[in-house]
Amino acid sequence: MNEITIEQLLNLIKTYNEEAIPDVKRAYQLADFLHKGQLRQSGEPYIIHPLNVSYILATMHADCDTLCAGLLHDTLEDTHITKEEIAKLFNQNVANLVDGVTKLAKMNFSSKQEQNLANTRKIITGITEDVRIIIIKLADRLHNMRTLEYKKPFKQKENALETLEIFSPLAYYLGAYQIKNELEDLSLRYLKPEIYHHLEEQKNSIEEANRECLYEMLHKIKMILNENDIPNEIKVRTKNIYGIYKKLEQGHQLNDIHDLLAIKIIVDKIDNCYKTLGLVHRLYKPINHKFKDYISNPKTNLYQSLHTTVFAPNEQIVQTQIRTFEMDRTATYGLTASWDINKGNARYVMQEDLKNKFQFFKYLTEIDTIFSDNQAFVEQVKTELFNNNVYAYTPSGICIELPKGSTIIDYAYKTDPQNADNIVDAIVNDKSVPIDYIIQNKDRIKIITSKLSKGPTPEWETLATTSYAKKRIREYPNNHHLN
Ligand code: MN
Repeated sequence: MNEITIEQLLNLIKTYNEEAIPDVKRAYQLADFLHKGQLRQSGEPYIIHPLNVSYILATMHADCDTLCAGLLHDTLEDTHITKEEIAKLFNQNVANLVDGVTKLAKMNFSSKQEQNLANTRKIITGITEDVRIIIIKLADRLHNMRTLEYKKPFKQKENALETLEIFSPLAYYLGAYQIKNELEDLSLRYLKPEIYHHLEEQKNSIEEANRECLYEMLHKIKMILNENDIPNEIKVRTKNIYGIYKKLEQGHQLNDIHDLLAIKIIVDKIDNCYKTLGLVHRLYKPINHKFKDYISNPKTNLYQSLHTTVFAPNEQIVQTQIRTFEMDRTATYGLTASWDINKGNARYVMQEDLKNKFQFFKYLTEIDTIFSDNQAFVEQVKTELFNNNVYAYTPSGICIELPKGSTIIDYAYKTDPQNADNIVDAIVNDKSVPIDYIIQNKDRIKIITSKLSKGPTPEWETLATTSYAKKRIREYPNNHHLN
């Protein structure tokens, strides 16, 4: 895995962005020169690390500036070069990216020290400046986690915890499942090695036991899709180990995890997703309540797919995931899925997407403006963003993401800020509930407002969880004495 060479990197880049080659070569030569003599803890030449980071970025089809910054990302911190010199040799963008990543170094999410808190804040809000900084940081963290075995046990645990607390949630929010899954598994491997290896063994033996059956299903599905002229690609996949661990922790048994084994069916267009669903249900009986349409109702990180869990011939249950090629790219890479299509414009397009399409981004900017104290900010992000969320639906079926413990008050300020001051109660799944009702997953919520509402009373603030709702209540004219 660490054997990546500059030739391999260049070959990969050639497949999508030939024009970047001369600059990437120069960045490599410069980084190689600057890190000369430095070794990683593994004993390898240091350049191996930036090379791998840039390679991870290239698999996401990163733009030229990002690829160069990936190669140079440790030079400001570890060598004598300056930001100005990088700007002169490359351009201001590359210099800013390297500088941004450098400023995120040496942080510790779990520590209460002011310097670390300030740094954590920088990481999280870095997204609001240029999301590419965070993406480089994710690639950096991924390679460091892949090579964690060379660190001391204490460092391993510290890095693994930090990865679980901040980097894998960030990857999830950006929709980058591939990175999220690998980061989670690597973290668990170092945090709870015995559990990890035990689950790994169990996973392997389950895969082994079901292999024949799954491939038989794959071939049957492929045949019926071909007969119906639906272009397709079909893969078998097992849930990641951390995902299994979480399910078991929630009290599930290994064989009732409905998405432990899955068949991924990728087709050319949306119409054919639904057609495929019908064909799959004709071959295998579905478990009715395990069907989900994330195509019409995308997840808040833009993930789209049809999920249906069916009875396999060997009496196991198997989840089938049906989506288009485009959706599959989004499921793998998230926000960066169309990076190379946007080329020079990538930064702008991704930043706009983040602002307009990803719900967590709004929370983040809110929390950032409300809390000037770094500790309060980090605490709030942890509870509001990086904890478990609940997902509710508006009456028109839009999926709303809220921190666990949110009430009708939070929901109202999030979905209808104009009228939220006037809520009196709400209808949840056809039942009337008070405004302090705690929202559960899949609730359908309609808020009821009235001019007769007592308005946002000071008590409302204690019933709210989200920073935005609390702020609005506090700033309501009659509540000013609270401050
Ligand atoms: Mn690094």
